[in-house]
Amino acid sequence: MQQMVNVNDLSQTFYTKDGELEVLKDINFSLDEGQILTLLGPSGCGKSTILNILTKLLNPTSGDVTINGKIGYMFQKDHLLEWRNIMDNITLGLEIQKSKTEQNILQIEKLLKTYGLWEFRNMYPKELSGGMRQRVALIRTLSVNPDILLLDEPFSALDYQTRLLVSDDVYKIIKNENKSAILVTHDISEAISMSDKVVVLSKIPATVKNTYDIDLRKNEDLTPLQTRKVPGFQKYFDILWKELDSYETK
Ligand code: ADP
Ligand code: MG
Repeated sequence: MQQMVNVNDLSQTFYTKDGELEVLKDINFSLDEGQILTLLGPSGCGKSTILNILTKLLNPTSGDVTINGKIGYMFQKDHLLEWRNIMDNITLGLEIQKSKTEQNILQIEKLLKTYGLWEFRNMYPKELSGGMRQRVALIRTLSVNPDILLLDEPFSALDYQTRLLVSDDVYKIIKNENKSAILVTHDISEAISMSDKVVVLSKIPATVKNTYDIDLRKNEDLTPLQTRKVPGFQKYFDILWKELDSYETK
């Protein structure tokens, strides 16, 4: 299987006017094609910093990353522009890249129809629920046809029930479209239910405490909601809970 992302001995120190802040220390992980990998760690441990390095927004202090493919980045906030309708929000990425071709528009129309957004294409973001907005943000990220999706706490602004439903949607879309993805969260259940692999980060300076392959789905086509009901789910929850618990006691 092809490796889409390889992170090798990555370290990051910020030099600020208040002094040095060591954020990441010798981080290693890799993402295989078709996988969803979750970075699970406490708030402020450097998860977004890792994504910023992967997208080359930030140069690491040391170590290196190898990326095999095009990256699409989806933020915690949906960043939809209120004055553009849904269609025009989705084509924004193509406009910026100057690749708003007929073929790309057809591709977007297909995504809108497949994922239940077609009737909403002429509406404005404020007319949509939080869950729908997140779905639009995902389709916008997909519109430039990335191979690897980076999702930075994409559900954290949503209420609990919406969050579960949108996680299911997002999971299905990623798998249907054959994308590979790195998801960032501090929610244990979300990490287990969404991922093929969970990388547990310590508090700052973040190191990789442990990496877990989640084998709850076997070959079945289970969604995250269904995966939460698989008997083995609790075993992973207990293990990861202990890992996170040790943040407090150290
Ligand atoms: P997380 O996403 O896990 O919540 P971040 O990666 O956003 O954590 O931040 C990790 C730490 O690095 C925080 O203490 C944050 O204040 C600090 N930090 C992030 N970016 C910068 C920067 N450009 N300069 C200085 N400090 C930063
Ligand atoms: Mg963050």
